[in-house]
Order: sequence, then C-alpha cells, then structure tokens
Amino acid sequence: MTSVSNPNELSSATELDRNHVWHHLLQHKPLETSEPFMIVEGKGMRVWDAQGRQCLDAVSGGIWTVNVGYGRDTIANAVRDQLVRLNFFAGTAGTIPGAVFAERLLSKMPGLDRVYYINSGTEANEKVFKMVRQISARHHRGRKSKILFRERDYHGSSLAALAAGGQPERAMQYGPLPEGFVQVPHCLEYRKQWNVENYGIRAADAIEEVILREGSDTVGALCLEPITAGGGIIVPPAGYWPRVQEICRKYDILLHIDEVVCGIGRTGRWFGYQHFGIKPDFVTMAKGLASGYAAISCVATTNRVFDLFKDDPSDPLSYFRDVSTFGGCTAGPIAAIENMNIIEREALLENTVRMGERLRRKLEALKAKHEVIGDVRGVGLLQGVELVQNRVSKIPVTEAQTQRVVAVCRENGVLIGAINRALPGLNTTLCLAPPLIVSENEIDCISQAIDDALGRVFA
Ligand code: PMP
Repeated sequence: MTSVSNPNELSSATELDRNHVWHHLLQHKPLETSEPFMIVEGKGMRVWDAQGRQCLDAVSGGIWTVNVGYGRDTIANAVRDQLVRLNFFAGTAGTIPGAVFAERLLSKMPGLDRVYYINSGTEANEKVFKMVRQISARHHRGRKSKILFRERDYHGSSLAALAAGGQPERAMQYGPLPEGFVQVPHCLEYRKQWNVENYGIRAADAIEEVILREGSDTVGALCLEPITAGGGIIVPPAGYWPRVQEICRKYDILLHIDEVVCGIGRTGRWFGYQHFGIKPDFVTMAKGLASGYAAISCVATTNRVFDLFKDDPSDPLSYFRDVSTFGGCTAGPIAAIENMNIIEREALLENTVRMGERLRRKLEALKAKHEVIGDVRGVGLLQGVELVQNRVSKIPVTEAQTQRVVAVCRENGVLIGAINRALPGLNTTLCLAPPLIVSENEIDCISQAIDDALGRVFA
C-alpha cells in the first residue's frame, strides 16, 4: 500500500459501508456474509483495497471514468484554488471556468457552438430529449416529438433515459415509462440479423424503415452511442454512419450522439463520432470529462439548434426553461480544463491509439488460443471480448462463468469489467477500458490475467 490510513479507520469504514451504504448495481444479500470490497487509494492506474491489496485498474474506476488516472494533484489543486475563489453560482450568471471550458471544449468539436452544463450522463441525455420536445412543440406543432434509440444502447438511469434504452432488462419493474421513444435494430454484425454483404448499410437502412413506419414527420431525433459501450462494445460496421447521417438529413431528424463513455479520448480521438466523419446536432458527455475528479456533464450543440430557442423574445415560453442546480458548480469545468491539459501535455490520445492497438493484438492472440472467445471488438482503449460456449452456435457462456473470469482476474490483481445479460440470446462480454495513461507493460499484465483466468475457468 502507498500511504493509506490507519487500520482502525479502515475497519470502521468497512463496517459503516456494510451497515449504511446502498450500493449501485449490487444484490446486497451476498454482501452480508462476504468481505466488502472497498477501494481506499489510487495512483496512476493502480488502486489499493481496504486489505492493502494492489490492483491494476483496467476499467477506469469500475465504470470507464478515470481517463487520466488517479492521484492527479494538478487537478486537485486547480479545483481547490477555484473553490476558494468562487465555488458556485447558477441560473442567471456565468462563471469564468464555465466560460473558459466551453470555448476550449468546442475547439475540439468543429461545427458545434454551445455548451449546456449539468452533472451526469443521464441528465445530459434528458436535457437533449427535452430540447427535442421543445423544438417540436415550438416549430413543428408538437408533431416531431418521437425520439429513436438503438437496441443495446444505454443512455442513463432516469425513467426517460430508460425509455430511450435498448437494454430492456434495465427497465424491467420500473414502468410505466414516458412515451414517444422508439427502438431501431442494433448493428452488431457478429450476431447478424440480415444475411447481406454490406451489413453497415443494411443496419442503417433498418433505421429508415422505422422512420417510415412511424411517419417521418413524427420523428424529432435519433439518439445513438458512437460505439455501443455497456451493451457489448459494438462498433458500427463500415458504411453505417454515412448512411445514418444521410437518413437524418433526408427526414430533418436531429442526430444526438451519446459520448458519455467514448468522449474525451477513450477511443484515441477526442470523441468517438470523430472516427466516422459524422456531423451531430447534439453531443452529450460525462465520465471522462473530468475523470471523476468532479461531477460534470455537458450537452454540446449547434447555433442552429440554439437559435430555435430565442425565436420570439415576446413569448415567455421561447427559451429553454430548464435548470440544474449543480450545473453552476465551478469544480466541474475547472477540473475539466486541467483534465484536458493533462491529455494534451502527456499526449494521451496518441498513447490511447498505440496502447489500444497493442491491447487489441493481445486479445486477438487470446482468441487464437481460447475457443471460448467468440469475438474481439472495440476502438482504442475501449475493447470487448465476447465469450461463447461454442463458436458455431454462438450461445453465450453463463453469467456465473463470466463473473468467475472477472473474479480470477481480481485475485490476480487486475480489475476488468463484464457485461452480463440475464435475458437469453444476449451477449456476455468482458470489457476493458483502462485509463489512457496505460503502458505497454500494463497492457501485457491485463492480457496475461485474462489468459490465465480463461484457462482456469474454462479448463
Ligand atoms: N450514456 C452512456 C453511453 C453510458 O454508458 C452511461 C453510464 N454508464 C450513461 C449515459 C449514464 O451516465 P450517468 O451514469 O452519469 O448518468
């Protein structure tokens, strides 16, 4: 362990956690008897748990967030200085960090002109849904209010974001959900829905079919992840994005790209959509924006959209009537500025490209060795390894088996993630998204841990 706190503090925190904290995404019954998993310190891409064990974190804080790694004192110092100067002001007045970061962020996103500040990925997506609905109300007599989303994509945890989510198991038991969200098919070629040569074009054409079925004048926006992250690391096939863009233009549908995972360097460019030559109308981002040093998310959009909200100053409803208290906290944008400085100073986009290629090569080598790997896919430092019982039938392995792989990696000191679907027919994929600072040696350790775990679990 590096410098971590005294043992009494730790054991009492572990007890307090067991007794009082309701954790995200966890079934709590087994925790009553198991040893709690608490992370107490981080440095670079290593974290230490309450027992003093060191782990290499290949999932950037559990859910692909800590892009610049742990222990960044330049971010902490910038946040501290700003909070002492001015911690917060919201609503009617701007702040210096908010203004400076907006310009800096937009300099990485040619074609976009405005930034709206909020606090989480869910909230950012919700704001876009509201913007789309208001544009429909003001400019299309309420008709263009439907929002399309793609099977397997995820856009957040609120009721509207669940309604726009392509993973139905996440929404189970939380209905009724808001109306007007319509699903289009996924584009995962590994699990083909059409037997055609140009799969990307076919999958995009499926979106047009939904638009025509719904009535093109009723569809306001199409919301997509550039690369589906939590739904199985799905990279749209060649031809998909140009066709999607064409379809959106043809039917005057706003294109909303959810960069909550892919944004801020994860794929080796500032944004995932920048691999595909897309011109979005909205981009939402959160996780890597301040790498978890502060809570911040953003909607970026065009002046074309922005101007639709100031069409009639005499009308009290002609502006975006939305607020989010902590959109006015200066810790977010000041942390995001220094986060971006670090990515530039340390050439982390370039490192992501190089290390992403190395990780990919290693995973492909594992596929040649382990029959249980059905598919390897991803871009940059966002890579997935789909596990199947049989490469011909492509039947997924069980959730227990995937969890065992994750557990064995952890026993070997490497934290990886897994996507499990309780529903039949959906994929079971190991997820790798290490901080963008990862080194060659650390890539090799990650791949070795997976190699060992697959060997042990599927012996
Ligand atoms: N969009 C995507 C693509 C996500 O992966 C997530 C979270 N994993 C969200 C939105 C929601 O973000 P948050 O948890 O910050 O609300």
